[in-house]
Amino acid sequence: MSFLSNLTHIRGLIIENADVAKGSWFRVGGPAESLFQPADEADLSHFLTACPETIPITILGLGSNIIIRDGGIKGVVIKLGKNFNRLEHDTLTNIVEIGAGAGDVAVARHAAKQGLGGFEFLSGIPGSIGGALRMNAGAYGADIGDILIDARVMDRDGQIKIVTKEEMQLSYRHNSLPYDTIFISARFQAYDDDSEKLLNTLDDIKKQREETQPVKDRTGGSTFANPSPSDLMTADLPKDMKAWQLIDQVGGRGFKIGGAMMSEKHCNFMINDGHATAHDLESLGEEMRRRVKEKFGLTLQWEIQRIGQFKDDFDTCGEA
Ligand SMILES: Cc1cc2nc3c(=O)[nH]c(=O)nc-3n(C[C@H](O)[C@H](O)[C@H](O)COP(=O)(O)OP(=O)(O)OC[C@H]3O[C@@H](n4cnc5c(N)ncnc54)[C@H](O)[C@@H]3O)c2cc1C
Repeated sequence: MSFLSNLTHIRGLIIENADVAKGSWFRVGGPAESLFQPADEADLSHFLTACPETIPITILGLGSNIIIRDGGIKGVVIKLGKNFNRLEHDTLTNIVEIGAGAGDVAVARHAAKQGLGGFEFLSGIPGSIGGALRMNAGAYGADIGDILIDARVMDRDGQIKIVTKEEMQLSYRHNSLPYDTIFISARFQAYDDDSEKLLNTLDDIKKQREETQPVKDRTGGSTFANPSPSDLMTADLPKDMKAWQLIDQVGGRGFKIGGAMMSEKHCNFMINDGHATAHDLESLGEEMRRRVKEKFGLTLQWEIQRIGQFKDDFDTCGEA
């Protein structure tokens, strides 16, 4: 991309034709035209100011909730590195400010060691704080919105602003801010708790995850969001029915397309057996949606984000 050669003042790392797939959990997909890892906030702002509006921007966290398509990603992929993972705790108010590049699991462990309650659910979510804010990540009846106060975000023009939790209009696995909004950091309200008790909770969560989810495989977490009670009611189904139960009832458990399989252990998780393409994974997901729609009249919504281009010789499947 021609504008990259003019970026003499940029201090971060720029890689052209970057293998971004290896940084994602599924490890599938084509390269990014360019990858930018900013040195810090000011560097990111300079980059965005210089980057023409016509060049698409994609933000990547720890790649635990995405399929990168086989044709790769057009434009620039931005990935926040180590300089965006600071954690500051105000001991008077118990407000904790955390950089968007910090890993959820590390945050939960650090908080537990400090006797700071509220972050335990994050210990089972292998993404970044930025990804958790975008996805309103949650588990065990808690989600990021429960502890969030506000977030510092950067817009496409490189301007920083603070957005409150209310402005984000968080709902189940959803944040209403525009998709090119970059989360830089966020403030969370913690509470005092017993460190040993919190660490025990983390151990329980880890054990439970290992027993019920394919956490050692190449996966992307829940493939589909659980249907809303109103969608279930419209389809004349019990209002607490989960996506995995619907998949199970259409013969999805263990079902394979190419190198992609619905996990035997948790059938709302897809797995790459080591030979899957993004096309295999996406086709498998679409097949599950088709079957569920046919049998129950209900449309499953993808929770996994699918990004990038289809390969020219593949048929397109699913919505972006
Ligand atoms: C084994 C396993 C278990 C999981 N369990 C859970 C669970 O219990 N609950 C749950 O909610 N999720 C779960 N997930 C899914 C996933 O971990 C979460 O959605 C997580 O929040 C994604 O974070 P990430 O950094 O990996 O984001 P990515 O997968 O890299 O990206 C996901 C989305 O977030 C955006 N994004 C990432 N960083 C930023 C940023 N700084 N600014 C703006 N946008 C950004 C991306 O553009 C993309 O749209 C699981 C995944 C796996 C593999």
